[in-house]
Amino acid sequence: MVLAPNAGAMTHWGTNSYIIGEETLAIVDPGPAEAEHLAALMKAIGSREVSHILVTHAHSDHSAGAMALASKTGAPVSGFGTAREGRRAIMQSLAETGDLGGGEGLDERFAPDHVVREGDRITGAGWEIDVVHLPGHFAGQLGFQLDGNLFSGDHVMDWSSSIVSPPDGHIGDFLASSRRIIDLAPNQCLAGHGAPLVDPSDRLEWLIEHRSARESQILHALSTTWLPLHEIVAKVYLGLPDNLRPAAARNVLAHLIDLWERQLIEADPGPQQSALFRLR
Ligand SMILES: [Zn+2]
Repeated sequence: MVLAPNAGAMTHWGTNSYIIGEETLAIVDPGPAEAEHLAALMKAIGSREVSHILVTHAHSDHSAGAMALASKTGAPVSGFGTAREGRRAIMQSLAETGDLGGGEGLDERFAPDHVVREGDRITGAGWEIDVVHLPGHFAGQLGFQLDGNLFSGDHVMDWSSSIVSPPDGHIGDFLASSRRIIDLAPNQCLAGHGAPLVDPSDRLEWLIEHRSARESQILHALSTTWLPLHEIVAKVYLGLPDNLRPAAARNVLAHLIDLWERQLIEADPGPQQSALFRLR
C-alpha cells in the first residue's frame, strides 16, 4: 500500500493506494492527482508492468490520479463509469431541483477505459479479482474481491462511519451493501482510508445499528411541527465539532430522503436542503 499525502477530516491519514501482484501489477485506487503521490507509486511499482488500474469510485481522492498513472504505465483504467453513472432516478431528479447540494469531491473528469460491474472477473498474472457493486456511500462504488480480501473503497472504515451524502449516497443502498459484505464474509476489508478491518462483520453490524439509531433520533426530533434541516441536525448531533457539521447535515438529509421515500415524513416543497420536514 502506498499512502497519499492528503490527510484530512474526511480522509483520515490519506488515501490508501493498493498494489496487487508480484510481477505484473494491478493498482487499486490511484488516489488524488498529486505529483508527489504519483512519484511514490511509480517508485513502488519500479520496473514491473502494470496491467490494470482499478478504481473503487469516482471521488477525486480515489480516482483523480488515474489518468496520470495510466499515461505513465500504459495500463487501462477500469471503473463503474463516469461520476454520475448509477445514481438512482429519484436522486437524479432531486438533484435537478437545484437545492439538494452534495456532489462533494465528484471527479467530473473520470472516464474509465473499461466499464466493470457486479459479477465481472478481472484476471491478471497470478491473481483473480471478482467485482461486487457496493452502492451507498457512492452509487457507482465497486468492491474488489481478491481471495479473502475485499478492497472496499469508502464503505467501511475503522476510524469513522462513512458519509452518505445525496444524490450520490443513499441510506437504503448503504444498509443493503453493509449486509452484502457481511454475507460475502471477507477475512478483511482493505479500506480507502485507515487500517484494514480484520473480520469486518462486527464493524458492519455496528454501522447498520448506528444508522438505525440515527434514524430513531431523527424521527424522535421530528414532530408534527415543520422543522428546517439545520434544527434537526442540531437536535440529533449534540456537541459536534464545527468541522464535522457539514458532513453531519449531509447524513441527516440522506436519512430524511430515505424516510420521505418510505412515506414516514413529509417535506415541503420536497426533500431538499432548504425544505421543512415533519412527521406524516
Ligand atoms: Zn475517500
